[in-house]
Amino acid sequence: MPFRDRPTEGDMLERTQELFSFLQGEDAPEGWTDASLKLSAQKAWSVIYYLQEWFGIIPDHFERCDNCGDLFDTEYEGAYIDEESYRGYGMKKRDIGKHFCDGCCPAYSYERCDDG
Ligand SMILES: [Zn+2]
Repeated sequence: MPFRDRPTEGDMLERTQELFSFLQGEDAPEGWTDASLKLSAQKAWSVIYYLQEWFGIIPDHFERCDNCGDLFDTEYEGAYIDEESYRGYGMKKRDIGKHFCDGCCPAYSYERCDDG
C-alpha cells in the first residue's frame, strides 16, 4: 500500500470522509487486500467519533448531518440545533440535539421526512 503523508489540517475532513467510506466497505486504498469491512454508516460514524473523542486524532468539529448523513466541518458550515436556535433556523422541536449540514439547514425538507 502506498504511503500517504500525514493529513494536513486542510485535507483532514477529506481523509475522514475517506475513512468513513472505507469503514463501510467502499473506496479501499490502492493495494488494500482486506475488503471484509462493511460497517453500517452509523457504526462507521461511531468509530470516527471514538477517534475524535478518546484519541483526539480526528478533529471533534467534524460532524455527521442527521438528515443526509454527510460529514461536514462545523467550523465552516452547518448548525447544531439546540433549545435556543431551532426556531431561528426554521426547524422543528424534534430537531433539537441534531447536527445539519448547510445543504439541509435551514432548507431541511419536512415534506420528505414528515412520514418518517
Ligand atoms: Zn445534510
